[in-house]
Amino acid sequence: MSNKQAVRVRFAPSPTGDLHVGNIRTALFDWAYARHTGGKLIFRIEDTDTERVTDQYINAAIETLKWLGLNWDEGPEVGGEYGPYLQSQRLDIYATWAQKFLDQKDAYHCYCSADELEERRQVQMKSNQAPGYDGKCRDLSADQIEKFKQAGRKPVVRMRMPDGETVFTDAIRGEVKFEHKYVPDFVLARADGSPLYTLAVAVDDVLMKITHVLRGEDLLSSTPRQIRVYQAMGVKIEEYPIFAHLPFVMGQDNAKLSKRNGEVSIAWYREQGFLPEAICNYLALLGWSPGDDKENITMAELVELFTVERVNSSPARFDMKKLEAINGDKIRALTLDEFLGWALPFLINSKVISGQADEIEVVKSALPIIQERIVKLAEIPAMLSFLFVKDFKVAPEELSKISDAASQNVLKVALSKVEVLSSWDHTSIESSLRVALIEELGLKPRVAFSALRIAVTGSHISPPLFESLQLLGKERSIDRIKAVISK
Ligand code: GLU
Repeated sequence: MSNKQAVRVRFAPSPTGDLHVGNIRTALFDWAYARHTGGKLIFRIEDTDTERVTDQYINAAIETLKWLGLNWDEGPEVGGEYGPYLQSQRLDIYATWAQKFLDQKDAYHCYCSADELEERRQVQMKSNQAPGYDGKCRDLSADQIEKFKQAGRKPVVRMRMPDGETVFTDAIRGEVKFEHKYVPDFVLARADGSPLYTLAVAVDDVLMKITHVLRGEDLLSSTPRQIRVYQAMGVKIEEYPIFAHLPFVMGQDNAKLSKRNGEVSIAWYREQGFLPEAICNYLALLGWSPGDDKENITMAELVELFTVERVNSSPARFDMKKLEAINGDKIRALTLDEFLGWALPFLINSKVISGQADEIEVVKSALPIIQERIVKLAEIPAMLSFLFVKDFKVAPEELSKISDAASQNVLKVALSKVEVLSSWDHTSIESSLRVALIEELGLKPRVAFSALRIAVTGSHISPPLFESLQLLGKERSIDRIKAVISK
């Protein structure tokens, strides 16, 4: 996708809730394209629907992008030459353009009520016509207008769609054509003067000198209307932005991604402990590929390799398992200090620790033994809580697994061996227990060690046993084994 001008690409969400996977995939591609080309990323909030787009969601969107590392060059907080970047602060601009379109006769006042429109729509459907505005108010006489006014009707501003078609080249889909008989005259501004999406988006893309519009495929059908607004603004065809519509993101079942077939809210991924780099890495693969079957990439590699030519037009399928695998890889690649930084909030929020220095030291010594084992940070509290619980007790359902004679025997033998150990490190513990339980008693490792695991950690799933014993210390380990040996 070539363009002589410096690239200016925008991400323009209407946050009516937490940003979802689809929004973030778009933001990521916008960001990667801007960074790859050395252009600018413009972040614009489309909040003309003030009832659904609230300050809370706007702030959350800003925070989420920052957390993901998707920085912008112009937009909220950073400002820029073409601001303001919140559409709610640009209403007078849209009103001025709507008036200009009326003056030019590109647009007209439409007095049809919602009920009348609906009634006519029903008739169109019944007679197998494409539903849409029928042009009733296109050429009202002065008399007719006067009558509507007398009746107290307030008009909307409606754009006149000429006969013919709109053809443009989408950078991902190639030539796209819309026949205008399926693109009826559309509303630019409501009766109260507030703008609709099509007016605001097109005016802003022009005024903000946007060169590339990379966005979801769901917006493809709005493109001919936006192009109509450009024409009315007097923009030359060679100055239109280049459109690139990204493929849909589907759930595992090939239906559109929703809460039902995959989690959509980015907040959820954050709570689960997916790293921002893993989320970005995985979302980058939804519709794009770096080539060579490579799947684990860094943000720097994404920037280096990202081109629109490598974006696929067919729908991408969301695969949680793959995301988890990538997250596990990213966790393993963290340095100990980085891992500690990510782990502490999870441990503190779940009240496993309160955050004191001595606790942090213990966490630091324990993290290396779980780094290979987890795929999400949210698993950490359950894995490490055995090191911190006061009044440790094995829950009855786990206890019942180790009350049989064979388990009790394992525990007694293990106790007698570890009690006499002079050095409490995981290699000494392991070799003494292997000799006693595997070689001498002839048990299978899984059978031999699972009773012990439950006794000291309270769960049959835990970090590696011998390291866990070392971290727990000799005294606490022995106390815990004794506590589950039946009297
Ligand atoms: N604000 C629109 C939305 O969130 C997207 C605007 C655009 O990218 O053209 O659906």
